[in-house]
Amino acid sequence: MSKRVYNFNPGPAILPLPVLEEAQRDLLDFKGSGMSVLEVSHRGKAYEELHNETETLFKELLGAPADYRVLFMGGGASAQFALVPMNFLPAGAVADYILTGSFAEKAFEEAARVGEVHSAASSKATHYDRIPRPDEIQLSPDAAYVHITSNNTIFGTQWPVLPEFPGVPLVADMSSDILSRPFDVSKFGLIYAGAQKNLGPSGVTVVLISPEMLAKVNKNLPVIFQYTTYAKNNSLYNTPATFAVYIVNLVLKWLKANGGLAAMEQRNREKAALIYDALDASGGFYKGHAAKEFRSLMNVTFRLPGEELEAAFVSEAKQLDLIGLKGHRSVGGMRASIYNAMPVEGCRALADFMRDFAKRNG
Ligand SMILES: *Cc1c(COP(=O)(O)O)cnc(C)c1O
Repeated sequence: MSKRVYNFNPGPAILPLPVLEEAQRDLLDFKGSGMSVLEVSHRGKAYEELHNETETLFKELLGAPADYRVLFMGGGASAQFALVPMNFLPAGAVADYILTGSFAEKAFEEAARVGEVHSAASSKATHYDRIPRPDEIQLSPDAAYVHITSNNTIFGTQWPVLPEFPGVPLVADMSSDILSRPFDVSKFGLIYAGAQKNLGPSGVTVVLISPEMLAKVNKNLPVIFQYTTYAKNNSLYNTPATFAVYIVNLVLKWLKANGGLAAMEQRNREKAALIYDALDASGGFYKGHAAKEFRSLMNVTFRLPGEELEAAFVSEAKQLDLIGLKGHRSVGGMRASIYNAMPVEGCRALADFMRDFAKRNG
């Protein structure tokens, strides 16, 4: 077999090896069709079965209510930044945003182009090193919805417990931690996630939407921008990203075979602890960006004493096949993205390297 590395890239990101192997086996002949899954019609029986099974599996893994719909859309999470206010922020209404990082800011700025928005809380003053406390969150009266980002991919923070705002529809960007832990889907009106972090490859965005939200869609939009178009046509109004949906399907089956979300959370906690423990035991050599209470289980962000050491860290790690550790330019330092598909061994290898590097350079 060709060489595989430990891929800590933030997205597109690591995929489970069994998924890639199965895709490789299927590539030339999908379900005995004599055609690749890349070549079959999105209206054919073989693809439609896969498409429907993907929706069912996604809802089953999340324990979503039966009347919620899963939509397969395009444009990435970034398109959702615009589509959410276009569909759900009518003139005269206000949408609340909780600002916890760069993607939350982008969602907020895009919504401000559509209608009236309100920053209900922000941790920008401390460079997004934490999630606002409940008493800091000031919702507007009768907000059309509240938007949160469950995991902040760039800063490495995560809501330890997802918030609830009774009476106000809750919308969440879960691009970088969807399916990493169980949570109560029924508290959410709409959840969206670009697939390329925790679900599959780039090219498809998965949306989970409640019937109450579908009933509120703005009917004056071009049909391609209305969530109801996707719900009514089973995401087959236009051609969906069939290959991306196929890979998501395999990832969901892999998750199910590996114990589902409860098992995933346990494994993700174990993985993150390996790296955070190495960081905390370094006597201040490594400094985490996130406040401890809000540390992400998906993206571990930390700095070293000086940019020269940081460059050396990245290049030595690479020689050990630990790839993609350079942090985002807005935070600097390192970021280890350890999504569901990252094996425990990858985190252990990184933690061992961190200890060794600190000993030699501390
Ligand atoms: C990566 C990411 C995005 C942007 O996703 P695209 O699919 O590139 O538009 C948005 N939100 C979060 C939380 C992300 O991690």
